[in-house]
Amino acid sequence: MIFPRGERENMKKFIIATNNAKKLVELDRILNPLGINAVTARDAGVDLGDVEETGTTFEENALIKAMSAFEKSGLPAIADDSGLVVDALDGCPGVYTARYGGEGLSDKERYMHLLDEMKDIPKDERTARFVSAICCVLSKDEVITVRGECVGEIAFEPSGEGGFGYDPIFLYGGKSFAFLTPEKKDSISHRGKALRLLREELLKKNIDG
Ligand code: IMP
Repeated sequence: MIFPRGERENMKKFIIATNNAKKLVELDRILNPLGINAVTARDAGVDLGDVEETGTTFEENALIKAMSAFEKSGLPAIADDSGLVVDALDGCPGVYTARYGGEGLSDKERYMHLLDEMKDIPKDERTARFVSAICCVLSKDEVITVRGECVGEIAFEPSGEGGFGYDPIFLYGGKSFAFLTPEKKDSISHRGKALRLLREELLKKNIDG
């Protein structure tokens, strides 16, 4: 069974395959109330190393990361591959969102690069969506993949202090994601939607601790 919030020690452990500390906070924040005990690679005493994301879709990259973590830890593994799909840029940066603009840039330098690329795009053509593909590897032959999306638009300039990554330039309901409380973001975000779908799939499989 999936355990209620607060019973972490009784819950089945899933290793979260990410080295992105802020993404990890979000994944844990959403997974724990869903009754899923997300442990970091460090907590599990596992070195995930660098995994090359060679896929051409979010789903392929999520599978590469989750399968690698499963093989290294022997624990069921969950990985998210996410990014920003911008209509006016024919779907870019897409699976290259984390690398957009080149190697070694900060989050801010990346989103400023995107704003620069879009400086001549008018307001009504700035639609975009955040996509999150989540892959859960329960065993070598038992893999669940789900996807969540959140439609919004790209701002002309950054605003807000919260969140991470591209949040300051992604507008939802007229305000950037960086203004949202964590609870509000989880309720509407691509990652929140995908994780709730994952929970439904795990419940169908009657996962127990
Ligand atoms: P990944 O870690 O390879 O999946 O890369 C995800 C990329 O998309 C990174 O550049 C993140 O900053 C960005 N990203 C994914 N989800 C969000 C989000 O919820 N807010 C802001 N940026 C995000």
